[in-house]
Amino acid sequence: MSRFWSRAVHDLHPYVPGEQPRIPDLLKLNTNESPLGPSPRVAAAIAAEAGDSLRLYPDPEAVSLRAVLAHYHGVQPEQVFVGNGSDEVLGHAFAALLKQDAPLLFPDITYSFYPVWCGLFGISFETVALDETMRIRVEDYRRPAGAIIVANPNAPTGIALTRTEIAALLTEHADIPVLIDEAYVDFGAETAIPLVASHPNLLVVHTMSKSRALAGLRVGYAIGDTALIQGLTRVKDSFNSYPLGRPAQAGAIASVEDEDWFQASRRSVIETRDRMTEGLARLGFAVLPSSANFVFARHPDRSGSNLARALREKAILVRHWEKPRIADYVRITVGTGEQTDRLLAALAAILGRNAVG
Ligand SMILES: *Cc1c(COP(=O)(O)O)cnc(C)c1O
Repeated sequence: MSRFWSRAVHDLHPYVPGEQPRIPDLLKLNTNESPLGPSPRVAAAIAAEAGDSLRLYPDPEAVSLRAVLAHYHGVQPEQVFVGNGSDEVLGHAFAALLKQDAPLLFPDITYSFYPVWCGLFGISFETVALDETMRIRVEDYRRPAGAIIVANPNAPTGIALTRTEIAALLTEHADIPVLIDEAYVDFGAETAIPLVASHPNLLVVHTMSKSRALAGLRVGYAIGDTALIQGLTRVKDSFNSYPLGRPAQAGAIASVEDEDWFQASRRSVIETRDRMTEGLARLGFAVLPSSANFVFARHPDRSGSNLARALREKAILVRHWEKPRIADYVRITVGTGEQTDRLLAALAAILGRNAVG
């Protein structure tokens, strides 16, 4: 608290990211980072940008990166917006598109940054309860709304809607903006990007932090109708014209150009996730069906906070929220095969069971 703060700062409720502590031999399974490094081509591309050219501002329109992303996703460059991490892209979208007269709708259990942006931009919102199986039901969104945002797969549940369900949501709400946050889509869900051509109200947001192992580079992007992208650009150019530096633009391009690395990487995460899910089930966990690079699981004998604390004592970090409906759960990021073995062994010891059951 300071008397020098503006009124707006006093009223904020900032997002709390998963912690990044320094503990020896720490296993970080709390922020959904990739356990595999990025494509080696990314470091080479960044190194090539780390010279004299740094004295010059980067391309404010990121023309090359947007062209590469447009080609990759089969859209036009005017349908692509890039930002400093998808959090920045989402922030601009809240200001540019999701602030309407009627309330913004999103699930009661979802990415906890959404209500934070509502607070920052003064957006009224209503949450829509997940059903008893922790799923989003699109028919529950049939109510007065100014805009809708859904994470697909949802976080922290990991459960995905099909493209058919997204299409139904878009058709039922054709007169308002609908944003689909696809941060985890590459781990087994269907992207809504093919629907952009027929739904001018759809904005799809992607991040390079998770499936491209580039959380430290800060690159995210949105794909949608040209008019939506123009709205985002107006906000961006009223805030920061140069959100992506030269190394970030070059590194992101190199990542998209290494399709073999991308496919191998996501296949490996999906395989390990499925093995981790089986291991957790053998230990007595109920695990929600995940299409993401994490699982959301609960154990009948232990609360989520108890499990998270016991794992922390073994230098393994997982995420837990002391919130209604999800206090029993822990969210565990998929690590390497070896890290998964360590996690399962630690849980077996905590629960007094045999890991191989
Ligand atoms: C990780 C995450 C983001 C933000 O990703 P960055 O691109 O690293 O800012 C956005 N939405 C969801 C649902 C996420 O899990």
